[in-house]
Amino acid sequence: MSDPDCLFCKIVDGEIPGDVVHSTDHSVAFRDVNPQAPTHVLVVPRGHHRDAAALAAADPAGVADLVDAAAHVAAAEGLEGYRLVFNTGEAAGQTVFHTHLHVLGGRPLSWPPG
Ligand code: 5GP
Ligand code: ZN
Repeated sequence: MSDPDCLFCKIVDGEIPGDVVHSTDHSVAFRDVNPQAPTHVLVVPRGHHRDAAALAAADPAGVADLVDAAAHVAAAEGLEGYRLVFNTGEAAGQTVFHTHLHVLGGRPLSWPPG
């Protein structure tokens, strides 16, 4: 379930340090190294899947776990509202191909996103 060449697998496995803010048997949440908002956390499944759709196909409950973990992070950060984003595919800006849910908050978030 772990890909030796995957950055986020290495953070999950503790091979590369991450600023972990929440952890469960199924997921790990850590701060984005290049934050786009005062709170910018990535919630990732412990298992390697290339994107959200692949996780949904292989482990539907794993998607629910990410959303639940994101809610815990938002509450811990004291966010009134927050945005959840799965960039899926290069054309949508995905750069790391291990499923990750962006949790963004702590500033006004405009719509539509860029
Ligand atoms: P994507 O563009 O794939 O949706 O999101 C990947 C995110 O991972 C980006 O927001 C980027 O800043 C973040 N990122 C890339 N490398 C690292 C890293 O080594 N550590 C952490 N914490 N975040 C990273
Ligand atoms: Zn991975």
